[in-house]
Amino acid sequence: MRNIEEQRCHLCQQKARFYFVDHGDKKYFDCPSCKRYLISNLAENFLIEAIEEVRKETAKFASESKEDEATVISCKVTSEGKQITVAYEPRKTLPI
Ligand SMILES: [Zn+2]
Repeated sequence: MRNIEEQRCHLCQQKARFYFVDHGDKKYFDCPSCKRYLISNLAENFLIEAIEEVRKETAKFASESKEDEATVISCKVTSEGKQITVAYEPRKTLPI
């Protein structure tokens, strides 16, 4: 049983549903506008502090995912700092 909770989507600020996956390391969101996405805690914190444009771009990318896909949003730490990476992945391959 998943414990479904609600909070505002980090990308578009609409009310969205989510549950924790990977022992709490990630959240799987179902947003009316951004559809389904899996986001790591690191990426979540990064997006909260990021400029509006980064959130908008990520929201746009996520909203274009297909029905059988979810957007995976993660955060890569490079020598130049943190960077958001986004990719569509088939939902059946994800731990959701
Ligand atoms: Zn959203």
